[in-house]
Amino acid sequence: MACAPSDSDMCEVFSAPIGHLQRLTEQCLDESGDPQNYVYLLQCLLSFKGVESWDRCLESLQTGECEIDCPYCGVNMFIVIGEDRGDIACPECGTAFGVADPIVERWMQ
Ligand SMILES: [Zn+2]
Repeated sequence: MACAPSDSDMCEVFSAPIGHLQRLTEQCLDESGDPQNYVYLLQCLLSFKGVESWDRCLESLQTGECEIDCPYCGVNMFIVIGEDRGDIACPECGTAFGVADPIVERWMQ
């Protein structure tokens, strides 16, 4: 009985078109002046290169939002990049903390 092709099989079959799309995306990145378009193109480029976690991380960057967990009580919350800089107070436990470390911790796992 035949099985569905694996991800690695699909990447091998489509390696030439994916490589072509990767080169075109890199060219467009060099010419992009719009920040939202740049993030979208970077997201596409990372997908073509098989980088999954940063691809998902950039999704929230494009909308200006980021999901983090309170380092003290673990409650999950959304912050708005540009508005929630530096220290914020957790709405659940009230503890103030910097947002940079929780963002890095969440996306580097
Ligand atoms: Zn908390």
